[in-house]
Amino acid sequence: MGKFDIMGVDRNLRNTESDSEFENRIRPQELGSFAGQDKIVDNLRVFIKAALMRGDSLDHVLLHGPPGLGKTTLANIIAHEMGAQLKVTSGPVLDKPGDLAGLLTNLGAGDVLFIDEIHRLSPIVEEYLYSAMEDFKIDIVLDKGPSARSIQIELAPFTLVGATTRSGLLTSPLRARFGIQCHLEYYDAPVLAGIVKRSARILDIAIDDDAAVEIALRSRGTPRIANSLLRRVRDFAMVKGEGRIDLGITRIALQALNIDSRGLDQMDNRILETIIEKFKGGPVGLNTIATAVGEEAGTIEEVYEPFLIKEGFLKRTPRGREATELAYRHLGLTPASDDGLLF
Ligand code: ADP
Repeated sequence: MGKFDIMGVDRNLRNTESDSEFENRIRPQELGSFAGQDKIVDNLRVFIKAALMRGDSLDHVLLHGPPGLGKTTLANIIAHEMGAQLKVTSGPVLDKPGDLAGLLTNLGAGDVLFIDEIHRLSPIVEEYLYSAMEDFKIDIVLDKGPSARSIQIELAPFTLVGATTRSGLLTSPLRARFGIQCHLEYYDAPVLAGIVKRSARILDIAIDDDAAVEIALRSRGTPRIANSLLRRVRDFAMVKGEGRIDLGITRIALQALNIDSRGLDQMDNRILETIIEKFKGGPVGLNTIATAVGEEAGTIEEVYEPFLIKEGFLKRTPRGREATELAYRHLGLTPASDDGLLF
């Protein structure tokens, strides 16, 4: 996000927060302030309490779901609620087993190791993780060549929290080693509006209820998008309004930012346009859509489609994907009826 400097103007107008500072300020730290995902939160509360009562580490947790829905946040919360340290890494960063060994041997009892994008672990690193997860043991190879030997090291019992947007890419042996598996869903507008209001409170931004709902409706069911829209709308409120975020300034800001009226992003719209314009609204197969929009079929299926289906823009039928009448209307088009006549 670009920074700008406005000399000689109220200091509050200076946008000096980096994205990560901003995220850290508004990231919920306890289960109690994590909005929505009620089932996941209720279950985690039980599992965490039981582990604490037994004096055990929490079972390994797999969090899957589209980006920006709170996987990293939940990993933080788990560590915090367990009174443990959190170490963060990600699948593509762990090149060799040695990288992982370094992290694992530094974990204390009960600590949480968060591996983001765990579906992108290399196969040898993944295999190395198996014994660590299961028996809290790893083999380390000492020396090279003919004198190489391996010794087994005991690890402190730790909790692995793995996050993935593409659970379909996880191997079954890895998946089976997670005792707790949670699928995060898109958030409804009222919950998102609550998240926007909470963030506004923390950042000391005045916002009207209807403006928070408007931001929620345009955020693709995703807290990360809602929080970043809040930040952008705040800029408009400060510069073009009187500082308070009301519905009027919110609409002006969202229009200036070209935010889709239903919160869809470019790829969502591209998928709908492709089905409608190239394939007469469907039904059309997933792989054909993927080739036409230049995205992996799995990503469309696990990241884009769930939201389009939830919001009623797309239907999954036995013969393929179909655009709904709502999708036509959203793109300003009119659906053709089966006999080729317009409705
Ligand atoms: P992911 O790891 O799934 O991509 P994050 O955990 O990084 O998503 O969440 C993105 C942002 O949304 C964070 O700034 C976080 O504060 C906020 N957020 C996510 N889920 C919630 C929630 N349930 N309640 C409040 N804020 C949330």
